Amino acid sequence: MTDVQTAPQSDHYIGRFAPSPTGPLHAGSLVAALASYLDAKVHRGAWLVRIEDVDEERSATGVGEGMLALLQTLGMQWDGEVLWQSRRKEAYQAAFDALAGHTYPCGCNRREILDSRLGIAPDGAAIYPGTCRHGLAPGKTMRSLRVRVPDAEGQADRVGFTDRMAGPMVQHLATQSGDFVLKRADGFWAYQLAVVVDDAAQGVTDVVRGADLIDSTPRQIYLQQLLCVPTPRYLHVPVVRNANGEKLSKQTGAAAIAPGSEREAVAALLRSAAFLGLPLTRADSLAGFWHAAPDAWSELLRLRGAA
Ligand code: GLU
Repeated sequence: MTDVQTAPQSDHYIGRFAPSPTGPLHAGSLVAALASYLDAKVHRGAWLVRIEDVDEERSATGVGEGMLALLQTLGMQWDGEVLWQSRRKEAYQAAFDALAGHTYPCGCNRREILDSRLGIAPDGAAIYPGTCRHGLAPGKTMRSLRVRVPDAEGQADRVGFTDRMAGPMVQHLATQSGDFVLKRADGFWAYQLAVVVDDAAQGVTDVVRGADLIDSTPRQIYLQQLLCVPTPRYLHVPVVRNANGEKLSKQTGAAAIAPGSEREAVAALLRSAAFLGLPLTRADSLAGFWHAAPDAWSELLRLRGAA
Protein backbone atom coordinates (compact mmCIF):
# COMPACT_ATOMS: atom_id res chain seq x y z
CA MET A 1 0.00 0.00 0.00
CA THR A 2 1.19 3.49 -0.71
CA ASP A 3 0.43 5.53 2.39
CA VAL A 4 1.15 9.12 1.75
CA GLN A 5 2.76 11.31 4.35
CA THR A 6 1.38 14.66 3.45
CA ALA A 7 3.12 18.01 3.80
CA PRO A 8 3.78 18.95 7.43
CA GLN A 9 2.19 22.03 8.93
CA SER A 10 4.62 24.85 8.43
CA ASP A 11 4.86 28.49 7.58
CA HIS A 12 4.51 27.44 3.96
CA TYR A 13 0.80 27.06 3.32
CA ILE A 14 -1.04 27.51 0.05
CA GLY A 15 -4.73 26.73 0.10
CA ARG A 16 -7.40 27.15 -2.52
CA PHE A 17 -11.10 27.31 -3.27
CA ALA A 18 -11.98 25.71 -6.61
CA PRO A 19 -15.65 26.10 -7.52
CA SER A 20 -17.18 24.81 -10.74
CA PRO A 21 -19.21 27.62 -12.31
CA THR A 22 -22.12 25.40 -13.29
CA GLY A 23 -24.44 27.59 -11.24
CA PRO A 24 -24.12 30.50 -8.81
CA LEU A 25 -22.50 30.04 -5.42
CA HIS A 26 -24.94 28.37 -2.99
CA ALA A 27 -24.87 27.46 0.69
CA GLY A 28 -22.87 24.29 -0.05
CA SER A 29 -20.11 26.02 -1.98
CA LEU A 30 -19.96 28.82 0.60
CA VAL A 31 -19.17 26.24 3.29
CA ALA A 32 -16.17 24.99 1.25
CA ALA A 33 -15.09 28.57 0.54
CA LEU A 34 -15.30 29.56 4.20
CA ALA A 35 -13.48 26.48 5.50
CA SER A 36 -10.64 26.79 2.99
CA TYR A 37 -10.35 30.54 3.57
CA LEU A 38 -10.24 30.26 7.36
CA ASP A 39 -7.76 27.39 7.27
CA ALA A 40 -5.45 29.50 5.10
CA LYS A 41 -5.83 32.48 7.45
CA VAL A 42 -5.06 30.57 10.64
CA HIS A 43 -1.97 29.11 8.99
CA ARG A 44 -0.97 32.56 7.74
CA GLY A 45 -1.01 31.11 4.27
CA ALA A 46 -2.15 32.16 0.83
CA TRP A 47 -5.70 31.48 -0.35
CA LEU A 48 -6.04 31.01 -4.09
CA VAL A 49 -9.19 30.84 -6.17
CA ARG A 50 -9.46 28.62 -9.23
CA ILE A 51 -12.53 28.58 -11.41
CA GLU A 52 -13.01 24.97 -12.51
CA ASP A 53 -14.67 25.59 -15.85
CA VAL A 54 -12.92 22.65 -17.51
CA ASP A 55 -16.33 21.35 -18.58
CA GLU A 56 -17.11 24.30 -20.80
CA GLU A 57 -20.52 22.99 -21.75
CA ARG A 58 -21.79 22.96 -18.15
CA SER A 59 -20.10 26.24 -17.24
CA ALA A 60 -22.52 29.08 -17.70
CA THR A 61 -21.25 32.42 -19.01
CA GLY A 62 -20.61 35.03 -16.35
CA VAL A 63 -21.11 32.60 -13.45
CA GLY A 64 -17.40 32.46 -12.56
CA GLU A 65 -17.21 36.26 -12.53
CA GLY A 66 -20.33 36.37 -10.35
CA MET A 67 -18.70 33.98 -7.87
CA LEU A 68 -15.63 36.18 -7.64
CA ALA A 69 -17.75 39.31 -7.11
CA LEU A 70 -19.69 37.55 -4.34
CA LEU A 71 -16.52 36.43 -2.56
CA GLN A 72 -15.40 40.06 -2.54
CA THR A 73 -18.78 41.25 -1.27
CA LEU A 74 -18.46 38.75 1.57
CA GLY A 75 -14.99 40.05 2.40
CA MET A 76 -13.07 37.04 1.10
CA GLN A 77 -10.18 38.39 -0.93
CA TRP A 78 -8.01 35.82 -2.69
CA ASP A 79 -4.27 36.04 -3.23
CA GLY A 80 -2.67 36.25 -6.65
CA GLU A 81 -4.43 35.75 -9.93
CA VAL A 82 -7.50 33.63 -10.43
CA LEU A 83 -6.79 30.52 -12.50
CA TRP A 84 -9.42 29.54 -15.09
CA GLN A 85 -9.29 25.89 -16.13
CA SER A 86 -10.72 26.63 -19.58
CA ARG A 87 -7.41 28.39 -20.33
CA ARG A 88 -5.21 25.52 -19.20
CA LYS A 89 -5.72 22.95 -21.95
CA GLU A 90 -2.05 22.88 -22.94
CA ALA A 91 -1.01 22.09 -19.39
CA TYR A 92 -3.49 19.19 -19.24
CA GLN A 93 -2.27 17.89 -22.59
CA ALA A 94 1.36 18.08 -21.41
CA ALA A 95 0.50 16.16 -18.23
CA PHE A 96 -1.37 13.58 -20.26
CA ASP A 97 1.66 13.20 -22.56
CA ALA A 98 3.88 12.73 -19.52
CA LEU A 99 1.67 9.79 -18.50
CA ALA A 100 2.41 7.92 -21.74
CA GLY A 101 2.66 4.21 -21.07
CA HIS A 102 0.05 4.44 -18.31
CA THR A 103 -2.83 5.53 -20.52
CA TYR A 104 -4.91 4.00 -23.29
CA PRO A 105 -7.81 4.84 -25.56
CA CYS A 106 -11.17 3.37 -24.60
CA GLY A 107 -14.10 2.76 -26.91
CA CYS A 108 -16.69 1.74 -24.32
CA ASN A 109 -19.84 3.71 -23.77
CA ARG A 110 -21.62 4.22 -20.46
CA ARG A 111 -24.11 1.43 -21.07
CA GLU A 112 -21.39 -1.14 -21.83
CA ILE A 113 -19.55 -0.23 -18.63
CA LEU A 114 -22.73 -0.44 -16.53
CA ASP A 115 -23.54 -3.80 -18.12
CA SER A 116 -20.25 -5.23 -16.90
CA ARG A 117 -21.83 -5.29 -13.42
CA LEU A 118 -18.59 -4.52 -11.61
CA GLY A 119 -20.57 -2.09 -9.57
CA ILE A 120 -20.57 1.57 -8.82
CA ALA A 121 -17.62 3.44 -7.33
CA PRO A 122 -18.17 5.40 -4.09
CA ASP A 123 -18.59 8.58 -6.13
CA GLY A 124 -21.32 7.07 -8.28
CA ALA A 125 -19.22 6.31 -11.37
CA ALA A 126 -19.45 2.84 -12.86
CA ILE A 127 -16.29 0.81 -12.20
CA TYR A 128 -14.50 0.17 -15.45
CA PRO A 129 -13.86 -3.52 -16.18
CA GLY A 130 -10.73 -2.88 -18.25
CA THR A 131 -12.23 -3.97 -21.56
CA CYS A 132 -9.93 -1.80 -23.72
CA ARG A 133 -6.80 -2.16 -21.58
CA HIS A 134 -5.00 -4.21 -24.21
CA GLY A 135 -6.30 -2.39 -27.23
CA LEU A 136 -9.61 -1.24 -28.62
CA ALA A 137 -11.93 -4.16 -29.24
CA PRO A 138 -12.56 -4.85 -32.95
CA GLY A 139 -15.06 -2.45 -34.43
CA LYS A 140 -14.71 0.09 -31.62
CA THR A 141 -13.48 3.64 -32.03
CA MET A 142 -11.87 5.75 -29.36
CA ARG A 143 -14.26 7.65 -27.09
CA SER A 144 -12.22 8.52 -24.02
CA LEU A 145 -8.68 8.22 -22.68
CA ARG A 146 -8.08 6.32 -19.45
CA VAL A 147 -5.24 5.79 -17.02
CA ARG A 148 -4.41 2.26 -15.92
CA VAL A 149 -4.51 1.57 -12.17
CA PRO A 150 -2.36 -1.18 -10.61
CA ASP A 151 -3.67 -4.73 -10.89
CA ALA A 152 -5.75 -6.12 -8.07
CA GLU A 153 -3.02 -8.22 -6.45
CA GLY A 154 -0.12 -5.80 -6.60
CA GLN A 155 1.54 -4.19 -3.58
CA ALA A 156 0.91 -0.69 -4.86
CA ASP A 157 -2.77 -1.23 -5.57
CA ARG A 158 -3.97 0.60 -2.46
CA VAL A 159 -3.69 4.31 -1.98
CA GLY A 160 -4.06 5.74 1.47
CA PHE A 161 -3.95 9.15 3.06
CA THR A 162 -4.83 10.71 6.37
CA ASP A 163 -7.58 13.28 6.19
CA ARG A 164 -6.95 16.00 8.78
CA MET A 165 -10.44 15.58 10.18
CA ALA A 166 -11.77 12.19 9.03
CA GLY A 167 -8.51 10.33 9.74
CA PRO A 168 -6.97 7.49 7.71
CA MET A 169 -8.58 6.34 4.51
CA VAL A 170 -7.50 3.64 2.08
CA GLN A 171 -8.85 2.86 -1.34
CA HIS A 172 -8.27 -0.16 -3.50
CA LEU A 173 -8.12 1.43 -6.90
CA ALA A 174 -8.57 -1.74 -8.94
CA THR A 175 -11.89 -2.64 -7.34
CA GLN A 176 -13.14 0.73 -6.13
CA SER A 177 -12.43 2.83 -9.19
CA GLY A 178 -10.88 0.81 -12.00
CA ASP A 179 -8.96 2.53 -14.79
CA PHE A 180 -10.39 6.04 -14.84
CA VAL A 181 -11.03 8.65 -17.48
CA LEU A 182 -8.55 11.48 -18.09
CA LYS A 183 -10.12 12.78 -21.28
CA ARG A 184 -13.83 12.45 -21.69
CA ALA A 185 -15.82 11.28 -24.67
CA ASP A 186 -17.04 14.87 -25.18
CA GLY A 187 -13.43 15.99 -25.63
CA PHE A 188 -13.05 17.82 -22.31
CA TRP A 189 -10.27 16.97 -19.89
CA ALA A 190 -11.56 15.18 -16.80
CA TYR A 191 -11.75 16.84 -13.39
CA GLN A 192 -9.35 14.27 -11.87
CA LEU A 193 -6.53 15.24 -14.21
CA ALA A 194 -7.19 18.99 -14.20
CA VAL A 195 -7.34 19.23 -10.42
CA VAL A 196 -4.03 17.38 -9.98
CA VAL A 197 -2.25 19.44 -12.64
CA ASP A 198 -3.52 22.72 -11.21
CA ASP A 199 -2.95 21.94 -7.54
CA ALA A 200 0.65 21.12 -8.47
CA ALA A 201 1.08 24.16 -10.74
CA GLN A 202 -0.24 26.46 -8.03
CA GLY A 203 1.94 24.87 -5.34
CA VAL A 204 -1.10 23.99 -3.24
CA THR A 205 -0.03 22.46 0.09
CA ASP A 206 -3.49 22.15 1.64
CA VAL A 207 -6.77 21.15 0.07
CA VAL A 208 -9.89 21.93 2.12
CA ARG A 209 -13.09 20.95 0.31
CA GLY A 210 -16.39 19.09 0.56
CA ALA A 211 -16.52 15.46 1.68
CA ASP A 212 -18.20 14.47 -1.59
CA LEU A 213 -14.67 14.56 -3.04
CA ILE A 214 -13.00 12.37 -0.41
CA ASP A 215 -13.45 9.30 -2.64
CA SER A 216 -11.71 11.09 -5.50
CA THR A 217 -8.66 11.83 -3.36
CA PRO A 218 -6.93 8.42 -3.77
CA ARG A 219 -7.24 8.72 -7.57
CA GLN A 220 -5.74 12.19 -7.39
CA ILE A 221 -2.89 10.96 -5.19
CA TYR A 222 -2.27 8.14 -7.65
CA LEU A 223 -1.96 10.67 -10.49
CA GLN A 224 0.32 12.86 -8.36
CA GLN A 225 2.59 9.86 -7.86
CA LEU A 226 2.66 9.05 -11.57
CA LEU A 227 3.40 12.70 -12.39
CA CYS A 228 6.00 12.97 -9.59
CA VAL A 229 4.36 16.02 -8.01
CA PRO A 230 3.83 16.52 -4.25
CA THR A 231 0.69 15.39 -2.45
CA PRO A 232 -1.00 18.14 -0.44
CA ARG A 233 -2.63 17.61 2.94
CA TYR A 234 -6.39 17.09 2.77
CA LEU A 235 -9.28 18.15 4.97
CA HIS A 236 -12.79 17.31 3.83
CA VAL A 237 -15.68 19.17 5.42
CA PRO A 238 -19.28 17.91 5.58
CA VAL A 239 -21.48 18.47 2.57
CA VAL A 240 -24.65 20.54 2.82
CA ARG A 241 -27.72 18.53 1.82
CA ASN A 242 -31.29 19.53 1.07
CA ALA A 243 -34.39 18.10 2.77
CA ASN A 244 -34.25 15.07 0.43
CA GLY A 245 -30.70 14.30 1.49
CA GLU A 246 -29.27 15.41 -1.85
CA LYS A 247 -26.05 17.40 -2.04
CA LEU A 248 -26.88 21.03 -2.78
CA SER A 249 -26.18 21.87 -6.39
CA LYS A 250 -27.75 23.67 -9.27
CA GLN A 251 -29.33 20.35 -10.33
CA THR A 252 -30.97 19.88 -6.92
CA GLY A 253 -32.31 23.42 -7.00
CA ALA A 254 -29.93 25.11 -4.53
CA ALA A 255 -30.68 28.78 -4.00
CA ALA A 256 -27.98 31.25 -5.01
CA ILE A 257 -26.36 33.30 -2.24
CA ALA A 258 -27.20 36.87 -3.18
CA PRO A 259 -26.98 39.15 -0.15
CA GLY A 260 -28.69 42.50 -0.63
CA SER A 261 -27.10 44.11 2.41
CA GLU A 262 -24.22 43.67 4.84
CA ARG A 263 -26.64 42.15 7.33
CA GLU A 264 -27.63 39.48 4.83
CA ALA A 265 -23.98 38.84 3.96
CA VAL A 266 -23.15 38.32 7.64
CA ALA A 267 -26.19 36.07 8.03
CA ALA A 268 -25.06 33.88 5.10
CA LEU A 269 -21.57 33.57 6.59
CA LEU A 270 -22.97 32.77 10.04
CA ARG A 271 -25.14 30.02 8.57
CA SER A 272 -22.07 28.46 6.91
CA ALA A 273 -20.09 28.84 10.13
CA ALA A 274 -22.88 27.14 12.10
CA PHE A 275 -23.03 24.31 9.58
CA LEU A 276 -19.29 23.73 10.03
CA GLY A 277 -19.79 23.72 13.80
CA LEU A 278 -17.75 26.87 14.41
CA PRO A 279 -18.25 28.20 17.93
CA LEU A 280 -19.41 31.54 16.54
CA THR A 281 -23.07 32.43 16.71
CA ARG A 282 -23.26 36.17 16.22
CA ALA A 283 -21.55 39.06 14.52
CA ASP A 284 -22.87 42.55 13.86
CA SER A 285 -20.82 43.31 10.78
CA LEU A 286 -18.55 41.70 8.21
CA ALA A 287 -15.55 43.14 10.05
CA GLY A 288 -16.83 41.61 13.27
CA PHE A 289 -17.36 38.24 11.61
CA TRP A 290 -13.87 38.16 10.09
CA HIS A 291 -12.34 39.30 13.35
CA ALA A 292 -13.84 36.36 15.26
CA ALA A 293 -13.96 33.60 12.64
CA PRO A 294 -10.26 32.56 12.45
CA ASP A 295 -10.09 31.89 16.20
CA ALA A 296 -13.35 29.97 15.97
CA TRP A 297 -11.86 27.82 13.18
CA SER A 298 -8.72 27.15 15.26
CA GLU A 299 -10.95 26.14 18.15
CA LEU A 300 -12.94 23.81 15.90
CA LEU A 301 -9.75 22.15 14.65
CA ARG A 302 -8.67 21.69 18.27
CA LEU A 303 -12.05 20.27 19.34
CA ARG A 304 -12.09 17.80 16.43
CA GLY A 305 -8.50 16.80 17.02
CA ALA A 306 -7.67 17.89 13.48
CA ALA A 307 -4.03 18.25 12.53
N1 GLU B 1 -14.75 22.07 -8.63
C1 GLU B 1 -15.14 21.15 -7.61
C2 GLU B 1 -16.55 21.47 -7.14
O1 GLU B 1 -17.01 22.59 -7.31
C3 GLU B 1 -14.24 21.19 -6.41
C4 GLU B 1 -12.92 20.65 -6.73
C5 GLU B 1 -11.94 20.53 -5.58
O2 GLU B 1 -12.06 21.29 -4.60
O3 GLU B 1 -11.05 19.72 -5.70
O4 GLU B 1 -17.19 20.59 -6.60
